[in-house]
Amino acid sequence: MALKAAPPHPFIRARRHLGRQPRSYLVDTHPDIAAQYHPRYNTIELASLGTGSSMKVWWCHRAKDGRMHEWPATPAHRTSGRGCTICTGKRVQPGINDLATNHPDIAKDWHPDRNELSPDARA
Ligand SMILES: [Zn+2]
Repeated sequence: MALKAAPPHPFIRARRHLGRQPRSYLVDTHPDIAAQYHPRYNTIELASLGTGSSMKVWWCHRAKDGRMHEWPATPAHRTSGRGCTICTGKRVQPGINDLATNHPDIAKDWHPDRNELSPDARA
């Protein structure tokens, strides 16, 4: 009786479900970036993401002040050097870097009716 083959590594199993295979995988080429892959917001397996993928997925990291930053970006952008868009002020995360959180003194003067956005939606 032949021995049963060992089950494939979970990363390899995930890759087999893809149609087109990327040239390289993010987990292999950029483990530091792969470690920031959001554990809950993504439906795509991290192991199946190509290094140069243009698919927008979610990332997260703990900022110096201990708060969690969460932002969407493509692996292609991440591997070309772009980091957290909340740290750079390009994206507003309510409760983290919005006007109401960072400058409550200014936010209190926000006009209640004449603005489309609330002060927690502006950096
Ligand atoms: Zn950040």
